[in-house]
Amino acid sequence: MNLISDLLTKITQNKGRIDPFSLQFRLTVGIIGASVLSFGGVAIWTTWTTYQILIDSHKQNIIYLTDRLPRDVELYSEMIPVDIGLRRAINNVTSPNLLIWARAPDGSVLAQAETLKTERASQIVAAVDSLPWLPTKPQSSWINGSYLLLSSEPLAINGTRIGKLYIAQDITRDQARFLGLIRSLSLVNLLAILALAMAIASYIRRSLQPLREMSQMTQVISVDDLGQAQLQLDSAPSEVTDLAQTFNTMLSRLSDSWTQQREFVSNVSHELRTPLTIVHGYLQSMQRRSQNLTEAQQEALDIAAVETERIIRLLQDLLDLARADSGYLHLSWEPIDLASLLREVASMADPFSSHTIQVEIERLDAHGSGAESIHVKADRSRLRQVLINLIDNAVKYSEPHTPVTLRLHQFDEFVALQVSDRGCGIDLPHQTRIFERFYRVDEARSRSTGGSGLGLSIVKTLVEGMGGSITVRSKLGEGSVFTVTLPNPSVKL
Ligand code: ADP
Repeated sequence: MNLISDLLTKITQNKGRIDPFSLQFRLTVGIIGASVLSFGGVAIWTTWTTYQILIDSHKQNIIYLTDRLPRDVELYSEMIPVDIGLRRAINNVTSPNLLIWARAPDGSVLAQAETLKTERASQIVAAVDSLPWLPTKPQSSWINGSYLLLSSEPLAINGTRIGKLYIAQDITRDQARFLGLIRSLSLVNLLAILALAMAIASYIRRSLQPLREMSQMTQVISVDDLGQAQLQLDSAPSEVTDLAQTFNTMLSRLSDSWTQQREFVSNVSHELRTPLTIVHGYLQSMQRRSQNLTEAQQEALDIAAVETERIIRLLQDLLDLARADSGYLHLSWEPIDLASLLREVASMADPFSSHTIQVEIERLDAHGSGAESIHVKADRSRLRQVLINLIDNAVKYSEPHTPVTLRLHQFDEFVALQVSDRGCGIDLPHQTRIFERFYRVDEARSRSTGGSGLGLSIVKTLVEGMGGSITVRSKLGEGSVFTVTLPNPSVKL
């Protein structure tokens, strides 16, 4: 359960970032773009067509009036004079937004609609009269702040041309209403597109979420989680569920093969260690009774003994790691006086090394009881092994006669053991990797110093097994500081 919640925490930490190359981003943008285009296209086409229909109906009306008026006047002229008949015919068809007037060829007004008596109408008429050219078929024009459909046709009664008939349909209000309609339509469209975009984005995000979880789980999973990590995708689309099932099967197979590999390493190390220990014992006893050997034989014997010892150590390391992996690392917990352990390890290492091993016990204890009495609860021999490994590295990776310092600090929550050297140091990119198995920064140097690349991974495994942690601080060419922190026990003996 913890593992799954850990994984989910790691997964949710990556949420909220927009990746422009992701399938989710492309699908969302693509679908939104397509809907904007299609919705927008339909909206523009509908508005434009409606507008054309409106204008056309007005134009048809003007054409109809231009046709009808002379006929009406001809009918009237049988009973009343032409000019009176013309005025009556005009007034019969006129409406508040329709301006009709007729002029004789000399420019005098023959007749005009009642609606032309307003000031605004007179201004429009004056503006129209001042135009150099007027269309015969109705055309829209922007005149004097009004939007007009204008036409001027010669006026002939009973075959005699008596002047010109002017018709101006004021469609300003229609136009304004129409623009208002466009505005509300655009707003509704925009809101619909926004709602659609949000719905699409959330649907795509939900559909692709399983894939994202799968990839994020692959990134954070470690060999230790292989057996328990499984994807749960009940509500995912069936293609993704199939993929998740394959992924889960692959995880189970990897976990099985990792277990087999661990068992294999553990068995092989175990089987090899016993005969090699016997061989090493024989070699040592031959070394002790080597008076009759030639110099070359003596040298060969020494090399064989050293190499056998190295392989036995390597096998022991592999066994320790295999045991830790399968949870069988046995630790004997006991209270340990750290200051005396540090001194003991330093005095053990000092005679065999060309370095000065210094021990500094810092009295940081706030209660004034002194760091000399710092105790932790841990496995004595394993903690000694940790310190020896770190000191061994400090000696291996620094020049002879440079100091190696062991420090002990006590804090409220934890106790820190530091091993520092003034050696070659470790470059930043390597610092996170040196705790991996078989990882060595400089292969040639490590081989010449007899390293296998397992030392620090054993140290890490042991320290973590004792409830602590290990970190490194290092600068290339200046040296390294390895800090082991162990929980500060409430047991202060
Ligand atoms: P090895 O057996 O090669 O020493 P370790 O696991 O102990 O393997 O260390 C891994 C690598 O970390 C080493 O190969 C070395 O390059 C680097 N390293 C470890 N300790 C130090 C140190 N004190 N100074 C510089 N490099 C170090």
